[in-house]
Formats: sequence, C-alpha cells, structure tokens
Amino acid sequence: MRAAATDTLAARSLAHVWHPCTQMKRHEAQPPVAIARAQGPWLYGSDGRRYLDAISSWWVNLFGHGHPHIKAALADQLERLDHVLLAGFTHAPVVELSERLGALTGLGHAFYGSDGAAATEIALKMSAHYWRNQGRPGKSRFVGLAGGYHGETVGALAVTDMALFREAYAPLVRLAATVPSPDARGAEPGESARDVARRAAAALEAWLAEHHAETAALIVEPLVQCACAMAMHDPEYLRLARALCTRYEVHLVVDEIAVGFGRTGSMFAHQQAGIRPDFICLSKGLTGGTLALSAVLTSDAVYAAFYDDEVARGFLHSHSYTGNPLACRAALATLELFDQLDALNTNRALAARIDAACAPLTGHPRVRHARRLGMIWAWDIADTRPDFARRYHQQALARGLLLRPIGNTLYAMPPYVLDDEAVHCLASGALAALEATLQEEAAA
Ligand SMILES: *Cc1c(COP(=O)(O)O)cnc(C)c1O
Repeated sequence: MRAAATDTLAARSLAHVWHPCTQMKRHEAQPPVAIARAQGPWLYGSDGRRYLDAISSWWVNLFGHGHPHIKAALADQLERLDHVLLAGFTHAPVVELSERLGALTGLGHAFYGSDGAAATEIALKMSAHYWRNQGRPGKSRFVGLAGGYHGETVGALAVTDMALFREAYAPLVRLAATVPSPDARGAEPGESARDVARRAAAALEAWLAEHHAETAALIVEPLVQCACAMAMHDPEYLRLARALCTRYEVHLVVDEIAVGFGRTGSMFAHQQAGIRPDFICLSKGLTGGTLALSAVLTSDAVYAAFYDDEVARGFLHSHSYTGNPLACRAALATLELFDQLDALNTNRALAARIDAACAPLTGHPRVRHARRLGMIWAWDIADTRPDFARRYHQQALARGLLLRPIGNTLYAMPPYVLDDEAVHCLASGALAALEATLQEEAAA
C-alpha cells in the first residue's frame, strides 16, 4: 500500500484503522484528514488547517464542538458516577433524561441503546414482542419506505432500503417490505408535494389492507429521508400513515435519529404533523455529538403489554452500557441548551441568513430541487459524473469546508452555532467547490 508519509497519523490510520463507509483503497490517492482538536463549528487539522464542519460530523453535533455547558456537565458527572449497570440499579441522569424525553414527546417509557441501529433493533423487537404478548405472534413482519435508512446492523438492514449497503449481506437479512416514498421530487406535472404524499399513502393503504395481519410495524423517517439524499415529504403523509396504522392495528415507529432535536425546525419532526407515534427512535444529536447513546420511547399501552409476573413476557434486550450516566448527562445538558439558547427560534433567524448567503448557489443553472427544511439544505446537481460526490468533497476540503454530497445531491446540515464568518465560509465555499468540480468535469 502506498501512503503519503509513513510517519503521519493518516498513514498509521491506514495501516491499522478500518474506516467506515469507505473503500479503503481510495485512500491511496486521498489519505484521511487527521483532526487534532475542534471548537464550535470548526475542526482543526494536525497540519494546522481548519475546516468548517458543515455536516455536524455526520449529523450528530448540534451546538458546535466542545460546548462549555456540555463539557462542564460531563466533568461534573465524571466526578460523581462514571457508570453503573442499569439492571437492578438506577441513577439521576437516566431518570431525569427519561422524564424530560417523556415530557417532550408524550411517550413516557424510555429504553436505552448504544447507537442508532441499536434503537431500530430495539423498536422492531419491542413491536413484534408486543403483538406476541397480545396473543398475535403472526404479526412479526415490518414495512418501510423505499430509500429508507435505519442503520446497518443485520436487523436494521431489514428495513434499510439501500442496495449498496445491503447487497453483500442479503442472505443474512430477513427483508421487510417497502412501499413508495412520499419524496416530493417524485411529483408528476401539476402535482403538489401534498398530492405526492396522498398518492404514497394510498399505496401504503393498499399494502396494509393485504398484509396487516402479519405486520407488526411501519417504520418511517419523518419529513426527511436524510440518507436517501435528503428526500423531503409533506407532513400529510405522516397524518395519513398514522390513521392507517391505527385502522389496521400496525405500530407506527418514527425514526427521528437524524431529524430529531430541532433539525427540521420543530423539536421533533413528527410534531409538525400533529401525530403521536407508538415508538420514537432517537440518537445522533441526543448527546450533542459527544457520546454514543440512543433511546427508544414508547407508550403506556406498549409498556403495559410487557408488565407481568412472567419473566419471558418482559422486554429482555440488554447491552452492557445501557443508560450510561455520562452519556445521559450529556443528553440532559444538550436539552438544557435548547432552553438557554432559545435554539428553535434562534435557528429560524440563522436559517434565513444562510438562505440569503446561499442564494447564488440555489440559483446556479445546474441546481435542481433546491430545498430546505429547518436546518437541512439540499441541492441536486444536474448532469454530473458518477464520482461527483467524491470530487466535490475534495474541492470543498481544499476550501476549508467539510461537505460530503450523497450521489449528485449536495447538502448542508450545519451545527446551530454559525457566526457570520462561518455562514460566509459555508455559502461561498460551497459555490466555489461546485464551480471547481464542474470545471474539472468539463475538462476531463
Ligand atoms: C444514522 C441513522 C441511523 C443509524 O444510526 P447509527 O448510530 O449510525 O447506527 C438510523 N436511522 C437514521 C434515520 C439515521 O440517519
């Protein structure tokens, strides 16, 4: 293997670290960027260069890196209690976090996992086990949306409709059914986003009418299917899906792992549809981007179905670090920041500033379907080469900007703490990187 310089962190990383979502051979040409420290929206490379983290380090970092309020809470918690098993024991951070999440969502029972895929697995297992406890073990299949993404463990892959991530593991996976996505970009001439939502809901209804007896749950990413290149849909779909799930006795699981915690403009995305799901999966922003933690929230009705003298009717899922006190404390500090910073309102003003700064990009002749919801921006780039995403990423890095398009969709999901300098870096860097990438394509 060729590496730029054998004594650098990047070269040592390539020798011993297997990086995620990466064909490692690609790093022969482009070594990974070594980051030494981070502050606010900025990452600082070991080489002294700085990068604007315009995708919140894979959508986890809400209030910038190293936020003093989260750091102080973690330092305090580390002095008190680092960890204790949650079976047979409890502690203040997990109790307070569960109370707060219950108050925010109306789903008052929280089960904790380590990451997003684990939350998906927990929700699916809990749903199927609920039906079994109700004397309906036949309800054990799942249905999700085309292009859905819910994580990449073997169980989560069942409801992740992404050929690239699933193909090699297909024999291991008990595939769920998929129904059409309400992606507003699928509008026929004359159709509105709401019409697309109604059409997709009609397809869901037809599917449920036939398969509800063997179906435990529908799982959806509310309002934005982020991994599916930021596919956005009208909240009407969630209202109709909720009504159909109730009518056909199928649980509604909303996966808020990417879109929760203010990302779409409301605290949780499904709240814009005014619905109450049966399960909510949370992770990513939950700890403000500091520690790995996920939670599945559910209703009194689901909880009651497991409450019994018989051990086997209980929910027996467990993992070693369930409800880790440090992670729960970081989550509490993150929730406190929403109040302290009046984050949802502050974000509305920030988003308007970013919109204005990005107007030249939005108006670029090669941009299609420019769209924004809350603090998520996306622009589809027409007529690009298949390796657009990789080359754009490099052009952006060269301009001190971390952006990673998905296919030909350029998107930004920045932390909620950009000052004017950072907004300018994002808007002008994104446009300059686009022009450079398109010029490179034209020259090739
Ligand atoms: C990232 C993501 C997951 C998986 O979370 P991990 O922590 O990466 O396992 C699940 N669902 C959605 C919507 C996601 O964006």
